[in-house]
Amino acid sequence: MSVAERAAGATPVATVEPADADAAPVIALRGVRREYVMGGQTVQALRGIDLDIRRNDYVAIIGASGSGKSTLMNIIGCLDKPSHGHYLLNGQAVADMGDNALAGVRNTEIGFIFQSFNLLPRVDALHNVMQPLVYRRMPYAERRERASDALRKVGLTQRMGHLPNELSGGQRQRVAVARALVGNPSILLADEPTGNLDSTTTEEIMTLFDQLQADGQTVVVVTHEPDIAQRCHRVITLHDGLVKLDQQQRPLAC
Ligand code: ADP
Ligand code: MG
Repeated sequence: MSVAERAAGATPVATVEPADADAAPVIALRGVRREYVMGGQTVQALRGIDLDIRRNDYVAIIGASGSGKSTLMNIIGCLDKPSHGHYLLNGQAVADMGDNALAGVRNTEIGFIFQSFNLLPRVDALHNVMQPLVYRRMPYAERRERASDALRKVGLTQRMGHLPNELSGGQRQRVAVARALVGNPSILLADEPTGNLDSTTTEEIMTLFDQLQADGQTVVVVTHEPDIAQRCHRVITLHDGLVKLDQQQRPLAC
């Protein structure tokens, strides 16, 4: 509609929204800030982040230590909430959710992988991977089957009965990836997942992420290693709590 038509009071034509729900971003952040108050001083960890992450994106988040990468990941993963601004996860406003709803969303929508694996030391790989499904009131046999499937995806079928301390660092991180995947989350978030691994094992874990993304998973990886960032399709650089660069290195598949 032209300015003249609008001024003349012509009936506005409804904008056509894409009917395909997959076209909507999985993650939408608008004006997100996070402040920490410590000993009377305020630290501005995030100073206004606008960011969309779409289904099947393969994103690296890089930036100097203290630039806000973990703070951003914790907000995206619903482990923390913004001090200001809006966060929509699959179109739902996270700020409006109570603790129970948030715990549910974390369990069903988010797969989080940490640098330090965070496995339960006293139970085997299979039971570590089954653990997130406990909260879903799923029968034991089904939990077991899903966990074995997830361990098969990460190439650990032969190690299901091993305790974490009977596994190598790379195998432990693969158990953690299987645990993150078992609930079929909308998004896989990994905060420096290879920070404790040597270069061969790093390559193993990154090849696994490449495969998961090629199979349709949405993946976001925090890293300070340029090689790792380069293999992702999009690289977001944080500086002092702001997005300094957002580079799409390869076109989206769809
Ligand atoms: P990165 O992961 O990029 O190293 P962080 O997100 O951990 O950065 O930290 C960003 C800024 O916020 C830093 O200045 C850090 O000291 C501060 N910060 C992070 N977590 C806390 C916290 N729990 N309390 C106070 N300050 C924090
Ligand atoms: Mg960090």
